[in-house]
Amino acid sequence: MTTIPPMPHATYPDETRLSIQLFTIEETGLGPYVGLPVTSLWLDDTPHLFTRETAEQIARDVTRDDLCMSYAFSADGTLTLQWTDDYDALGRVIIVVPDVHGRYLIGGMWPWAVWGADDAPHTAGQAAFALGAAEYRWTAEKCTEHPEDLEHLYVRGREEAHRVSLGRDQPRTTVPFDIDPVRTPLIVRSRPVSRFYRPLPPGALESAIRPVAAGAVGPGDLVVGGFTPPHPDIVRRRSQWFGDAYVAAPALWDAACECTSCETIRAHCGPAPAVGRLVMKKEIDGECVVWDGDDIALIIPASLLPAPA
Ligand SMILES: [Zn+2]
Repeated sequence: MTTIPPMPHATYPDETRLSIQLFTIEETGLGPYVGLPVTSLWLDDTPHLFTRETAEQIARDVTRDDLCMSYAFSADGTLTLQWTDDYDALGRVIIVVPDVHGRYLIGGMWPWAVWGADDAPHTAGQAAFALGAAEYRWTAEKCTEHPEDLEHLYVRGREEAHRVSLGRDQPRTTVPFDIDPVRTPLIVRSRPVSRFYRPLPPGALESAIRPVAAGAVGPGDLVVGGFTPPHPDIVRRRSQWFGDAYVAAPALWDAACECTSCETIRAHCGPAPAVGRLVMKKEIDGECVVWDGDDIALIIPASLLPAPA
């Protein structure tokens, strides 16, 4: 039995992020599967990272036809691949545990090949999907023209490439920055330097910080501060930096939560705004960190943060 541990680092020695790569299983024409290599040098049995969606597609494909395998996803997401007895009397099993981002490191069971390199016949749909994935770092103006009826496949390929690379290579134009300074004047002062303000994580740059509505904060964004609450006598709201920045894991607020912060909010904060409340993270002691969706947060978007080591 072989267990493949998650190893989600994906940079060259000089810290440049590896690009996604399209794979097929040698001599099958299957795929293309959008994978993220985790090393800069790989052989045909080197494992690559795939999203859950792609892992499911791969598992379905290899258990069809004569590839002689069966598969199962357990409730915690673990993927088990097993050769059938007919094919391999040893009944070999491979267990793949997803990484913290739900990605699967798959390889070593069959030879991966770069999709399209072997001149195997493929459909126009496969080509559109592959093109979308290959151009995932490009802005809309730069993208290659493709048939309109295959647009949805082009978009899917592109989205899959962003999912597996955790959105870190999104073209910069899509970074949210949606605060109208006329309606919501804000003052952002430099982050104070003192013992109370812990340094930002390595590679998190102050120049990448921007204000967004809390409702637009996404998972993985680094929340570094907020603003003074709106007040009738104060026109411009001032930045308030947090001593400790934290990584957001936004979830819908449970109005019946019994933690102390949620009870305080129910007792003192009145009804939620029309856009609702969200739990930006859970403290280690189970307390919710709750924001109104229309509060303004100061964040570094996940797409501008370095990949985790
Ligand atoms: Zn709570």
